Amino acid sequence: MAELILKAEREKSLLRRHPWVFSGAVETVRGNPQPGQTVEVLDSKKHFLARAAYSPVSQIRARVWTFDENEQVDAEFLARRIDSALALRSSFGYLASSSESQASSQPDCDAFRLIHAESDLLPGLIVDCYGDVLVFQSLSAGSEYWRDVLADILLAKMRASAIHERSDADVRELEGLPIRNGVLRGSPPAQVAITENGLRFLVNIASGHKTGFYLDQRLNRKRVGELAKDKDVLNCFCYTGGFSLHAAAAGARSVLSVDSSADALSLAQENAALNRLTGDGLIWREADVFQILRKFRDERRTFDMIILDPPKFAATFSQAEKAARGYKDINLLAFKLLRSGGILATFSCSGGVDASLFQKIVAGAALDAGVDASIIEHLEQSPDHPISLHFPEGAYLKGLICLKK
Ligand code: SAH
Repeated sequence: MAELILKAEREKSLLRRHPWVFSGAVETVRGNPQPGQTVEVLDSKKHFLARAAYSPVSQIRARVWTFDENEQVDAEFLARRIDSALALRSSFGYLASSSESQASSQPDCDAFRLIHAESDLLPGLIVDCYGDVLVFQSLSAGSEYWRDVLADILLAKMRASAIHERSDADVRELEGLPIRNGVLRGSPPAQVAITENGLRFLVNIASGHKTGFYLDQRLNRKRVGELAKDKDVLNCFCYTGGFSLHAAAAGARSVLSVDSSADALSLAQENAALNRLTGDGLIWREADVFQILRKFRDERRTFDMIILDPPKFAATFSQAEKAARGYKDINLLAFKLLRSGGILATFSCSGGVDASLFQKIVAGAALDAGVDASIIEHLEQSPDHPISLHFPEGAYLKGLICLKK
């Protein structure tokens, strides 16, 4: 097997079980490994550290499959890792059992994340389950190398009808991989209907954001919905209506939803109709959130609840400052538009902004808005997006529910 030998003292993060080997830590590569092939990672004294997938052009030169010297990386290994991921989702009730069929024991939810990459010890691999259709996203040379083996294992274990591949995220370019969006197994439809917390949603798996739906917000949509009863709600960055419909179904007095994407809004309205949630109180508006919040401020419009779930402003820490300005701006305006006793549900999915920085930004926004507010709940990604203790980068979604005095 090819070998990747580290520079002296550069083994520390691997000893802490962090799964990435950066290019700067590598002294030599022996044996001419091809992209995605398994290499043995050795310290400068040639002691075994890990087996990893080699990625010649990426800054992340290798991603660890296993730290166990006795474990070979092959189809059986991948099947065991997938079994562990399934067992975790079964324990949440999303699957009847890891070895049985797809049928969920949670009839009010049939869409969830089955494999969350590094946090499920399958670096670079994301698999989302939408009913009996799987969406597969490979983001690393290693998961790309094993793509067909992984697809066959998933199809067999999940008894899925089809797999669609959404390997079209920008980060693939960093790995030197082409963009792919198409059929991987079977004949997946471009659109599927899912159930989440008892509500129905149409999901465009071929053209929607990420793999089609923001599954990481499932429990937060439920929680925010519960708090929306009898309230006038403003949902900013509504996408296909996730938070809006949870709020409406839970008895919000009115829900005004804003997004800049006409396609997302049109699907949101189909979703509203699918759940028979229509009427004068439910309004969909195509606009830029930064602008419309200013317009509402100038018009002195107010709300009892404002939801802010913007797209990622900062993927890395180097972009945190610019992102902070964006978060501060919308949170400040939201605090101004909230009535006294109103609730702000505010989120950040930027990996480059950690939970404590996000809380500081929101605190600064309240201060500059001249508002007193308290955090009444901290929210995070739903547990089918686990966070490995050895891979803190896996914790990307944070949310605060704030009460304005
Ligand atoms: N809350 C949603 C997910 C939001 S994703 C859910 O639960 O499903 C972020 C959304 O913000 C996308 O739909 C995108 O179209 C929208 N968006 C991005 N920039 C925007 C802007 N400046 N103004 C309004 N919407 C924007």
